Amino acid sequence: MAGLVAAARARELGLDPVVIEKGTRAGGSMLLSSCVIWRHLDWDDFRAECPDGDEALQRSIWERLDDALAWLVSLGADPVWDDTENPRTTGKRFDPRALTQLLAHDVRLETELEADAEPPLLLATGGFGKRLAAGRGLFLRANPWSGGAGLDYGLARGAAVTTGMDEFYGRAMPAPPARIREQDFVPLAQLYGREARVLTDDGQDITPAKVAWHENDLAQLIGSSAWYVVGKANDRIEAARAAGGTVVDRDDGSIAVHVAAGVTHTIGGLRIDTRARVVGLDGVWAAGADAGGVATGGYASGLAQALVLGLAAAEDAAGYSP
Ligand SMILES: Cc1cc2nc3c(=O)[nH]c(=O)nc-3n(C[C@H](O)[C@H](O)[C@H](O)COP(=O)(O)OP(=O)(O)OC[C@H]3O[C@@H](n4cnc5c(N)ncnc54)[C@H](O)[C@@H]3O)c2cc1C
Repeated sequence: MAGLVAAARARELGLDPVVIEKGTRAGGSMLLSSCVIWRHLDWDDFRAECPDGDEALQRSIWERLDDALAWLVSLGADPVWDDTENPRTTGKRFDPRALTQLLAHDVRLETELEADAEPPLLLATGGFGKRLAAGRGLFLRANPWSGGAGLDYGLARGAAVTTGMDEFYGRAMPAPPARIREQDFVPLAQLYGREARVLTDDGQDITPAKVAWHENDLAQLIGSSAWYVVGKANDRIEAARAAGGTVVDRDDGSIAVHVAAGVTHTIGGLRIDTRARVVGLDGVWAAGADAGGVATGGYASGLAQALVLGLAAAEDAAGYSP
């Protein structure tokens, strides 16, 4: 998303950007998402839920999101929800296909970010979720192309990274042999972990004393294999069963669902300032999940991060001279 947003804003500012897209389609993980672009309603909640992030960067995203959403609407994006359905957050929901179509313009498909690409350059490759998932044996619940090219580009030139490089935003998903297609990423998310007992494969109870509303903490905890045990079925469990996941109806009436974490995107990344400039690199910006320091220690909207930082990068790069 960040690259498409930046390009749209850059065109508005009279520039002629080129979007290089490694995949076979535009839209990245935004296209696969629920497309709720949100912020915490209350600034203190954001800080408390993502305590290890860069406060100035968090503050700029939190303060700029409402205007950024108004900008999207001014381009012609039609919200399907005018606000979130979560009392802790505010934002808008869009149709991801329609939003991609609106933003994608002259995207050069199936082209890699070049190692010798010249500034001014925006890194917006969606983080390194593919690499993190492969390294830990986890399922990739995201576009299949975000393998860390932006991070590598920055690191090769001496850029610094944030803390939280081992954190990811993810969801508990039905463990193999469940068949999970891209269109199943949202409905198959096993989002009832707060009501479940969590067991390891050998039956050890690892249920945390407290689970966050977003359950991202549970996704980190369960890793590549665990069980959710609940008292009664729900739609997501039935969806897991229908997809061939392992769902066991136990003699005591409870239901055990074999789950594994699916990685959506990384939380750590390149260190940037509030104008999305990569700290220490002249003429290079990073936006979206290529940047770290926003949701560190918790969970915040990846789409908000992509939208606000994509705009910030385009606006700052418009004034760039080598
Ligand atoms: C199922 C699902 C549901 C989600 N729901 C929500 C939600 O409701 N709200 C929310 O805030 N977030 C949600 N997210 C997360 C959100 O989609 C991401 O945070 C967001 O898309 C990240 O934006 P980005 O621009 O960093 O990456 P992306 O949108 O993934 O875009 C990165 C692009 O870079 C391309 N790329 C990668 N490597 C290269 C390379 N070497 N050269 C060229 N191009 C490259 C990729 O193909 C991709 O098109 C969801 C994600 C998924 C998968």
